[in-house]
Amino acid sequence: MTKNDKRQGINTQLAHAGHDPHGYFGFVNPPVVHASTVLYPDANTLSTRGQKYTYGTRGTPTTDALAEAIDALEGSAGTICVPSGLAAVTVPLLTFASAGDHILITDSVYHPTRHFADTMLRRMGVEVEYYDPHIGGGIAALIRPNTSIVFTESPASNTFEVQDIPAIAKAAHAAGAVVMMDNTWATPLYLKPLDFGVDISIHAATKYPGGHSDVLLGTVSANEAYWERLYEGFVTLGCCAGPDDVYQVLRGLRTMGVRLEHHRKSALEIAAWLEGQPGVARVLHPALPSHPDHNLWKRDFTGSSGIFSIVLNGGGQKQAHAFLDALEIFGLGYSWGGYESLAVPVFLGDRVIAKGPYAGPLIRLQIGLEDVEDLKIDIAHGLTAAAEA
Ligand SMILES: *Cc1c(COP(=O)(O)O)cnc(C)c1O
Repeated sequence: MTKNDKRQGINTQLAHAGHDPHGYFGFVNPPVVHASTVLYPDANTLSTRGQKYTYGTRGTPTTDALAEAIDALEGSAGTICVPSGLAAVTVPLLTFASAGDHILITDSVYHPTRHFADTMLRRMGVEVEYYDPHIGGGIAALIRPNTSIVFTESPASNTFEVQDIPAIAKAAHAAGAVVMMDNTWATPLYLKPLDFGVDISIHAATKYPGGHSDVLLGTVSANEAYWERLYEGFVTLGCCAGPDDVYQVLRGLRTMGVRLEHHRKSALEIAAWLEGQPGVARVLHPALPSHPDHNLWKRDFTGSSGIFSIVLNGGGQKQAHAFLDALEIFGLGYSWGGYESLAVPVFLGDRVIAKGPYAGPLIRLQIGLEDVEDLKIDIAHGLTAAAEA
């Protein structure tokens, strides 16, 4: 059992939550349990499943260590560990959506979440509707008697709009809908969704908890009201994470506070610097006072992570590609949250509402743990190349 104490500082919690060394011979880290079969001492215990661990898909000491650490950070009643961040989105959606339901998803959602909703959920007879990320309490007008899920993600994928989560949750709860939030950007260090009315908090632990671009994992945490059903859905689907990946993420969690603080500071410094650079029309980073949702961000979040977007001052794909191809430190590749800087062009062609207009192409930057001065020089080369393209 965790000795976590909510009054402790966040780095103390990150260092100790989820595993008590003296519960396992004093070893600082939990064992990596590779398990399918669990043996029972006798027929009666077997028939009644009368012991703590019953089968590998249902949980092990390794998955419990990570789940309990996440529960301590999120303030949740229970957490499941699944094989990817995308599975952390699809498992709760599948668990809580039924044929004939209507569900509401923010239009600025992570693209694969939209793809899942538009294909599998629609095929199963679920009506999917996208809403403006800025809708706030106005979402009440979209809620119907059969609305079962309101899905949020804040700040938005790629465009970083901030949602009024308490207002959305209030309207959703008045209609009996479950509120889910993809909280990957903030991590539980900078936002604890359950404190703002969210019922189910989702993480691509692939990102900052993993932290090294070498592991895929997702976590889903529920409050008391929704935990039993979430766990039942998880067990029904058999969508459990492998023990080595779970262990890697718990290992990453121990240093996440230190890493994230460095990501936060560097990203904010570079974002502020970019606002004054020629060739940059806008910087989409909610912790900048110039961001249209800055006050909302400040009300709810206690920090900002290392990913944001810039809008080039005019141009199109040619200029965006010239920018990207001039980068030497920034890698071109998807995902983020690792120690290294990354850049990708942003595609908004899937959006129906939150699609701009923007003055030029958008480029998303993940600011890694490298030295800020080196990253600025790299970005400046990109801006020069875009201007000359
Ligand atoms: C990356 C990401 C996911 C998916 O995580 P994977 O582990 O790559 O499947 C889900 N939501 C958000 C917001 C993400 O950025």
